[in-house]
Amino acid sequence: MAARAAIVLAAAVSAACGTGQGRAPDQLEESHVNELARRYVGVVLAIGQHDPDYVDAYYGPEELRPTGSKRPLADIDRDAAGLEEALQDGPGEGTGEGQPAHELTRLRHQYLLRQLAAARTRIAMLSGRRLSFDEESQALYDAVAPVKTGADFEAVLEELDRRLPGSGSLIDRYNAFRDRFVIPRERLDATFRAAIDGCRARTLAHVTLPPSESFTVEYVTGKTWSGYNWYQGNYRSLIQVNTDLPIFVDRAIDLACHEGYPGHHVYNVLLEKHLVRDRGWIEYSVYPLFSPQSLIAEGTANYGIEVAFPREERMEFERRVIFPAAGLNPADVEAYYTVQALVDRLSYAGNEAARQYLDGQIDATAAAQRLIAWGLYSKPRAEQRVRFIDQYRSYVINYNLGKDLVAAHVEAVAGAPDPARRWAAFTGLLSSPRLPSGLAHGR
Ligand SMILES: [Zn+2]
Repeated sequence: MAARAAIVLAAAVSAACGTGQGRAPDQLEESHVNELARRYVGVVLAIGQHDPDYVDAYYGPEELRPTGSKRPLADIDRDAAGLEEALQDGPGEGTGEGQPAHELTRLRHQYLLRQLAAARTRIAMLSGRRLSFDEESQALYDAVAPVKTGADFEAVLEELDRRLPGSGSLIDRYNAFRDRFVIPRERLDATFRAAIDGCRARTLAHVTLPPSESFTVEYVTGKTWSGYNWYQGNYRSLIQVNTDLPIFVDRAIDLACHEGYPGHHVYNVLLEKHLVRDRGWIEYSVYPLFSPQSLIAEGTANYGIEVAFPREERMEFERRVIFPAAGLNPADVEAYYTVQALVDRLSYAGNEAARQYLDGQIDATAAAQRLIAWGLYSKPRAEQRVRFIDQYRSYVINYNLGKDLVAAHVEAVAGAPDPARRWAAFTGLLSSPRLPSGLAHGR
């Protein structure tokens, strides 16, 4: 997919800049957008001086890094507004004398415009503006999560109630069941490494990565998240795994795929290879966390677990490799994942708890109770999640809504339930400037 797109890009002609002295219009347009992209990087890095969580990764030119004191937010916003205006003249939909601009060039413009709009929203928030949960997720992530109620989770909770043996409340029985599947601390690294090897082998069978790509793994404490990929550039990542709470056996493959292969590490490597290095699109050398790109990042990282490990393959790998590495009984694989598949269907409970909490309808204690009652979070995990919501706010929708939107897009592009086509569609998305509102919809 990426190769085909490259050929068409070379032929793309933009009417935006007219003709220049001795240079083809497309070259002129490209250099004009490159300059705007450079200024966009400056805007993102300047916001990062005000917001320590904002710049998730930057591996572009050192001279663009801000030095000295922070620029006032109003000044940064003025730059962003000027850039938006300059980009409005670019090849949006249907410009160019009625000729649709080429897909990749158009997506590049849309990417810059939407990322800038999100940057301006973040500036407004840092300046004290309050948005509702849905307004915020629309402005920052280009998407709004559907509203669910307790009734939406009832059938799944009843099914779990029937399946989990013993006496006591459902949450107590679920916690007791799940406690049997903790990876012992001393086996954690070996289990995680076995999972990474499995995810990497499956990914490399379908995706071409630069030979020098690699990552290191660290175990950390005192974080609101369970895992994090810090992309360093040069095809390298630092992956941190939080050991504050017990790590259950399903997290081995989930984290290895989500943070590593074919998730965040691969997404960043492919963007660096195809967009930053091959095309010189500098805007991809910076990753603002509170931006539409995050829905694609988290959505592909979560959907990538199923792309790498369709259910039957996963069950086989869990029985043969992961459960033995964790010192658990492989005979329990089926029972564990049957329950987990049901619990996964409660994931939108997290969005509802966050929406009601951030919209001021419930307090932190009630938000944790929602996560426990509707999402079957253990108490410490629910409290950790509320701290995550405090820090990252409507970012929570990127995981489950992101996964569902990415799944619908990949399946629509693949056109058939064929593993090779699914990998091709998935890799195409990982290598492209596409944002949430540009995703294809499933049937
Ligand atoms: Zn992630």
